Amino acid sequence: MSDYKLNTICVQGGYHPGNGEPRQIPIVQSTTFKYDTSEDMGKLFDLETSGYFYTRLQNPTNDYVAAKIAELEGGTAAMLTSSGQAANLMALFNICECGSHIVASSSIYGGTFNLISVTMAKMGIGVTFVSPDATEEELNAAFQENTRAMFGETIANPALTVLDIEKFAKVAHAHGVPLIVDNTFPTPVNCRPIEWGADIVTHSTTKYMDGHGTAVGGAIVDSGKFDWMAHADKYPDLCTPDESYHGIVYAEKFGMAGAFITKCTSQLMRDLGCIQSPQNAFYLNLGLESLHVRMQRHVENGQAVAEFLQSQPKVKSVSYPGLPGDKYYEVAQKYLPKGGCGVVSFELYGGRAAAEAFMKRLKLAAIETHVADARTCCLNPATSTHRQMNDEQLAAAGVPAGLIRISCGLEDKEDLIADLKQALEGVE
Ligand SMILES: *Cc1c(COP(=O)(O)O)cnc(C)c1O
Repeated sequence: MSDYKLNTICVQGGYHPGNGEPRQIPIVQSTTFKYDTSEDMGKLFDLETSGYFYTRLQNPTNDYVAAKIAELEGGTAAMLTSSGQAANLMALFNICECGSHIVASSSIYGGTFNLISVTMAKMGIGVTFVSPDATEEELNAAFQENTRAMFGETIANPALTVLDIEKFAKVAHAHGVPLIVDNTFPTPVNCRPIEWGADIVTHSTTKYMDGHGTAVGGAIVDSGKFDWMAHADKYPDLCTPDESYHGIVYAEKFGMAGAFITKCTSQLMRDLGCIQSPQNAFYLNLGLESLHVRMQRHVENGQAVAEFLQSQPKVKSVSYPGLPGDKYYEVAQKYLPKGGCGVVSFELYGGRAAAEAFMKRLKLAAIETHVADARTCCLNPATSTHRQMNDEQLAAAGVPAGLIRISCGLEDKEDLIADLKQALEGVE
């Protein structure tokens, strides 16, 4: 780990070219790698030496970018995946198997909720969802003998709840399991969950890290702080010989710093194959080079838009953890002192019709199923992602028909506010 500040790591972390080598990260557009002897290659297969043999497992371009993300999060190792979904699947599946159980915050991204509650259930992995606001006693009560992981999102998409990471980590550790935190929305620029006790951090790099709506991707970072061997009974895959790798015991051979990511790469990436393409890793790195500059502006615009909306009589409510009075304001002050993200959600009086009329009039904010992009965009869940629900079901799900989620981009905040203002004028 370097001693450089986060801003410097964003720009120069992960890749350190030697004399006469490319200044920018090279895109190693090659599926395979050449060796002089079979013995050389054999050592790679036995994990005796590190190196590359096939891009489904590892590629130098990806590794440079993963190293930067590991540094940004303050972790010991990281890997890139083809998407954020793949990152959460692999992070969980690396320590869960048929018969395992997960405790997860109920306030998480819809895709992850489905992954855990439907697809992982088909693999025989159970889940107990807990409120992000649950007390320690309530969290404790959700754990079972077979619980292998606890999961939450620093700032949940789209609910904008803020996770009390220390509390979740404390409970997870009391039960001898790691806390996995999806840190997509704040990014390490605004929060580093490992400093608060998280053991594994995941990302949909598709969002702010890429930041330009260019490439779908994900990342997994290991803090290197979870002692697998101390809980060897729970994690036999890490702590007993892997017969598919000549009897290697990951936690022994690679220690706390490397076991999780090495196993995730050599078993899961090998078998599931959801690697990020080197070309996309290159785009992701371009995004990372300005992440620290962009996050500041996203937060500034999010805060300004949230404050403007709050002052408007046609707006029933605004959710933004940076607003004094928001349910998560105090927690956000603790974990997100520099601000959280650029996503704001608000509800208009007049429900679905008002939301439709409002969004139709917007000129700068485009209607998109996306967030965390340089360009401002918005979505009315009732007419898009939650379209199959009626108004009563929507209200019960905490997504009222008049709710709009706006992701503030990098434009001038005065232009954004002027756009919202003229659109509100068209609402009855
Ligand atoms: C978008 C998102 C995901 C899924 O990521 P993809 O890159 O779309 O697969 C996971 N978690 C959070 C918090 C997200 O916002």
